[in-house]
Amino acid sequence: MYEKVISFIHKLYGTEEFVPLSVPKFMGNEKKYLEECIDTTFVSSVGKFVDRFENDMAAYTGAKKAVVCVSGTSALHMAMMLVGVERNDEVLTQALTFIATCNAISYIGAHPVFIDVDKDTMGLSPIAVKNWLAKNAEIRNGECFNKNTGRRVKACVPMHTFGHPIHIEELIQICEEYHIEVVEDAAESIGSLYKGKHTGTFGKVSAISFNGNKTITTGGGGMMLFNDGELAAKAKHLTTQAKVPHRWEFRHDHIGYNYRMPNINAALGCAQLENIDKFIESKRQVAAEYTELFKNVDGIDFFTEPENTFSNYWLNAVILKDKAAQQAFLQQTNDNGVMTRPIWELMNRLPMFEHCENDGLENTIWFADRVVNIPSSVR
Ligand SMILES: *Cc1c(COP(=O)(O)O)cnc(C)c1O
Repeated sequence: MYEKVISFIHKLYGTEEFVPLSVPKFMGNEKKYLEECIDTTFVSSVGKFVDRFENDMAAYTGAKKAVVCVSGTSALHMAMMLVGVERNDEVLTQALTFIATCNAISYIGAHPVFIDVDKDTMGLSPIAVKNWLAKNAEIRNGECFNKNTGRRVKACVPMHTFGHPIHIEELIQICEEYHIEVVEDAAESIGSLYKGKHTGTFGKVSAISFNGNKTITTGGGGMMLFNDGELAAKAKHLTTQAKVPHRWEFRHDHIGYNYRMPNINAALGCAQLENIDKFIESKRQVAAEYTELFKNVDGIDFFTEPENTFSNYWLNAVILKDKAAQQAFLQQTNDNGVMTRPIWELMNRLPMFEHCENDGLENTIWFADRVVNIPSSVR
């Protein structure tokens, strides 16, 4: 039934062999920079590539400051702490996300509250957030509280699903009204723009991932973006064991974290970042070809970038008619050398989070029953 799609994808990637979902591409200075790390012995926690990667990423995104981390997950964890999320607070987020978003909230002992996504972005819906707050929240002494649980609602973590920017301006405005801090989970959306501005530069803190399957990779790694230089300095301090700078003394003034990205990973990141425009161009070309293909395939819609945005099309997604069609498509593609997978199991359906409050999640469930990710690597 889906032969046309399967043969198209094999042709797209020029192989009759297995086509993976998303694999890294090394075509620039990666080897050179890694060799430099080894030749100079600077492979670990100090070295020029760490500073350079932070500066280059800040320049690329337009953020004031960037601070590296060992993973996107650790960047999210640190971001929660930096905006002041504490044990027993509530954090508004999506059920339609990768587990790391909710793990980071949980590391602090805070509770996720799952709010619905928008049909046009697959990301957190400002209208759904507004509706939930109007019904459940009250402001006391300049802070937002959930009237039913009595807990403080401290932060909101939207995620730019598969690289497609959410309606971030509207969300920021609503969160401001309710004194809620916004942390963008921009793990998947490096290089994606909302009204010409980079995702990850709207929230108070944002997290990006450089895992091997993301648009650019450092092997494993992450980063926080800031518009607030002081907060960035605090982030740097806390991610480097909160050591008081001194040439020989070892003194720490806070509980710190060993979250700093090693120089060898940053070296890879510097080389990858040099080619990011080419990577995104290639991904958008793949998406354009898929758009044409699926115009002529009955029962499958290709998900395209929302209005007013420029998506990096990190991971392409199609929408099947219903759950049965989704399962049939997954079966047939995976049986025929094309890797595909459904969207993540919804967070509210996992044992750790099934007790968490949600708003009904109408669109979220609709997507869970229909979305399939298809191969999206740079060619
Ligand atoms: C990849 C990803 C992360 C972070 O992942 P790491 O593997 O820790 O770098 C966080 N959130 C989302 C939505 C992701 O896709």
